[in-house]
Amino acid sequence: MKRGLLVVFSGFSGSGKGTIMKRLLEEHKDTYRLSISATTRAPREGERDGVEYFFKSIPEFEELIKNNQMLEYAQYAGNYYGTPRAYVESELDKGHDVILEIETQGALKVKELIPEALLIFVTPPSVNILYDRLKNRGTETDEVIAKRMAQAANEALVIEKYDYLIENDNLDECVKVTHEIIKNSHDLTYNRKELIDNLKNDLKEYKKGE
Ligand code: 5GP
Repeated sequence: MKRGLLVVFSGFSGSGKGTIMKRLLEEHKDTYRLSISATTRAPREGERDGVEYFFKSIPEFEELIKNNQMLEYAQYAGNYYGTPRAYVESELDKGHDVILEIETQGALKVKELIPEALLIFVTPPSVNILYDRLKNRGTETDEVIAKRMAQAANEALVIEKYDYLIENDNLDECVKVTHEIIKNSHDLTYNRKELIDNLKNDLKEYKKGE
């Protein structure tokens, strides 16, 4: 069985990445698995342990790091966030494409560790639209909006380290494009090493008659 692809999905707060992910997972249940992260931040209203996140104390989280149980981790807004390694590995082995919805520092660490991981960044078409989306949510204070915009300015500095940039203008189109990108990435030559090795090996004997 072919091993799945590791997909890292990042984007500005307000980019719509959460909605795109949700739709992608609903529409392609047999293909994708979403990794559930561990975090030391407090649960928000309605969040359940083991569903949105595994909620941990700081010592518990540091124990996971010490025991090499995290594929990557980062500190963000004063809290730890990290990807538990075991689930990702076992789902990739089962042939599922595993999606990590993580911030940029973690994403770049994953790329360093696993160069064939596919990194996708999602953005609204412009900064004005980003600002309006945060404002129109109506749930954030002006202070929080200012923090998110400052965060976005930092995140924008590393967009070019991602493999793909998706402009979120239209949700349906974005979900379609994201799925196509992931599907096609299975056929990048560096993801077809086994087939290439088989072809080379089976063609060896024909070389003798050169
Ligand atoms: P929030 O607290 O809003 O749920 O998440 C804050 C940020 O942490 C988001 O950008 C989210 O994508 C990121 N994040 C969530 N899980 C992880 C993780 O496992 N590793 C890293 N590096 N970032 C994460």
